[in-house]
Amino acid sequence: MRVCWIGIGGNLGNSLEVFDAVWDELAQQSDLKLGIRSGIYHTSPVGQHAGDTFSNAVFSLSTTLEPAQLLTRLQAIEISLGRKKSVRWGSRPIDLDLLFVDQLVMDELSLTIPHRAAWYRRFVIDPLFEVAPSLRHPLVIQTITELKVRLSTRPLIIACLDSPQPQSLDFASRFPGARFVTGDEPASIGFQLCGVPLASIAHGVPIADLTNTPGDANQRITDFLTSVLDEPSRVCDW
Ligand code: AMP
Repeated sequence: MRVCWIGIGGNLGNSLEVFDAVWDELAQQSDLKLGIRSGIYHTSPVGQHAGDTFSNAVFSLSTTLEPAQLLTRLQAIEISLGRKKSVRWGSRPIDLDLLFVDQLVMDELSLTIPHRAAWYRRFVIDPLFEVAPSLRHPLVIQTITELKVRLSTRPLIIACLDSPQPQSLDFASRFPGARFVTGDEPASIGFQLCGVPLASIAHGVPIADLTNTPGDANQRITDFLTSVLDEPSRVCDW
């Protein structure tokens, strides 16, 4: 049996009811066993057409299913609960991401484990910190607690490894919690728009790979900074 961590989010309809429907559906599946779940957090929407505030949480399950089979199950549940894939990173009732599968690392066309953005999205890290603070990211080689501390520093020193440099796009005034440097200077985290191997680390600084994120450069950097600098608030138990 492998322990899998799933990220759940949405911003259309009653998220608590939708999250409960996901839980109830998975509870009926005999080849997996549900584990623990975090509370529900309100988080900043990420994406040009993402809409209003999101609700996010995480939960664990154990299963002998292959990761690709599990992702297929999760995608079937998304569709049954009204998810339409018309706009990437648009507003949606439900979004399910496979974050971690034990300490497995895999990078295939339609499935990357750990999820590429798991280590830098506060809407993932904050709920994980509540229920799995000592879970270790197998590539970034830090625990969830260490990642949360890393991301919570202000100002957060962010290295931009390619052009356009954020300074030229007015990011400093839009994201006052960040200070931007080039790839040669000390930083807490970095990012690159394309060409980064999965969760690479340069001089001890983990680099986010924004290769497949939607939109133009301005939008992709905006979305990255929004997810990194967000400060989610826990609104209720789940
Ligand atoms: P996005 O629109 O960014 O949520 O991407 C959805 C697509 O990412 C799906 O079609 C999946 O095939 C792919 N994908 C790759 N790795 C994962 C993962 N770990 N969890 C969920 N979706 C994934």
